Amino acid sequence: MLNRQGRPTALNDTDGIDVKSSTFTGNRALAQIEPLIFEIGRPETTGVDFDEPDDFESRLGGLERQDPIGLPGLSEPETMRHYVRLSQMNYGIDTGLFPLGSCTMKHNPRLNERMARLPGFADIHPLQPVSTVQGALELMDELARYLLTLTGMSAVALSPKAGAHGELCGMMAIKAAIEARGEGATRRTVLVPDSAHGTNPATAALIGFVVKAVPARADGTVHVDDVRALLGPDIAAIMLTNPNTCGLFEPQIVEIAAAIHEAGGYFYCDGANFNAIVGKVRPGDLGIDAMHINLHKTFSTPHGGGGPGSGPVVLSDRLASFAPVPFVHRDGNEFTLVENKNDPAAVQSFGRITAFHGQMGMYVRALAFMLSHGSDGMRQASEDAVLNANYVRAGLSDLLSQPFGDRPCMHEVLFDDAWLKDTGVTTLDVAKALIDEGYHPMTMYFPLVVHGAMLIEPTESESKASLDLFIATMRDLAMSAKRGETERFSGAPYYAPRRRLDETRAARNPILTYTPPQPVAEAAE
Ligand SMILES: *Cc1c(COP(=O)(O)O)cnc(C)c1O
Repeated sequence: MLNRQGRPTALNDTDGIDVKSSTFTGNRALAQIEPLIFEIGRPETTGVDFDEPDDFESRLGGLERQDPIGLPGLSEPETMRHYVRLSQMNYGIDTGLFPLGSCTMKHNPRLNERMARLPGFADIHPLQPVSTVQGALELMDELARYLLTLTGMSAVALSPKAGAHGELCGMMAIKAAIEARGEGATRRTVLVPDSAHGTNPATAALIGFVVKAVPARADGTVHVDDVRALLGPDIAAIMLTNPNTCGLFEPQIVEIAAAIHEAGGYFYCDGANFNAIVGKVRPGDLGIDAMHINLHKTFSTPHGGGGPGSGPVVLSDRLASFAPVPFVHRDGNEFTLVENKNDPAAVQSFGRITAFHGQMGMYVRALAFMLSHGSDGMRQASEDAVLNANYVRAGLSDLLSQPFGDRPCMHEVLFDDAWLKDTGVTTLDVAKALIDEGYHPMTMYFPLVVHGAMLIEPTESESKASLDLFIATMRDLAMSAKRGETERFSGAPYYAPRRRLDETRAARNPILTYTPPQPVAEAAE
């Protein structure tokens, strides 16, 4: 047993399938198994060799730690191997197709990385005098100009650090606007469709709004009549995703915007799926008041394991003056930062939501992506993202079922699990079997309105050959499930470094500390 922290990891636990998995070392060919660093490290070992410090006087007033700290020590080559082996267990967009729907896992062009590492962008400090960072501020101003041009909006708050953070920023601007109208006490309801990303209702609730669900129609879209039925003097805003999480463009979005405005509310659009429409549609023309843009999705900056993302929010005329500080102000060729609400340019600002100015490295990458593609290239990227999703749809639609009928999708294609009926195989099983085939699974069980949802977003990065192999793999899995080969699925993944984990238990009851095993004699008592 390599791992003592309670996870079922055994390689020879094959659930009755004949997999030659138990090697002497636990390794599989060139895939190296790797225990926790605490299991291989020794407190007395170190990879560096410092001189003993001279006598010094502690200024901790007797509070210094007395016990050994117990950190695992490894030599330099052992450290190197530990982390390289762990990195090889990871799967990323640089490893292969990453069809995680709604996440837009596209290639991060290396040119962008190169630009982000330029010392004038990478090595600056947020507290430097603005006279020494004029180039960085100009880049932010230029990025803002591109975002406003692409969206047809009036202002942009660059500082939010993720899509969800952008939602918070946009909704706080809406809240400030409602309070400025003196309606803070009455306009407290936010409409959110059933199919929304969980961050939408969470954001609204977090800042004190009451969330009311708008039902989705049988065709997967939101109908203006269903919105109108819920409108009244209590409505602060609607949060609508477009293209929506079912991969469909909301056909009544203009009518919905008009209806919400007529009722005195604001239109928040979740723009995480902007990749489908860049250069094709300007959200400002649809009547949107606030929309976040995930630079780490649409504009190819890395997602980076929960951060650093970047979620700028574009705002309409009606909300522009409520934008958060800080923001860049351009005066001829000189750039300054509007840092607080005492500045006459920011009297209505709702305040500050980040310590400093946001994710500089992401700004550089996103602008490098925009400049290297140009307007025609960005439009083509969107078209290719939609084309690729529809290519996958066409390649699978005779075997897999689609909840809203076989019709064109935007940048992602949604299947349900009706095609798995009576096979004994579930959406989860298919996702796990995909791991054995060397793919990161698609998004599963989201959106919640579709039973056993499988949401596949190939992005524009994939070549036809790559899509063909993925489609062939999915077809093989589908036929295997329909032939009743349940063992291929029920215990999958068979070939991954870790087998099927109890993810619910891991999320609900995470073990975040390491407890050294009891010495054998003690444990026996
Ligand atoms: C990704 C996503 C979000 C949240 O964005 P983060 O950057 O992950 O916080 C919100 N809504 C939708 C539809 C998304 O796809």
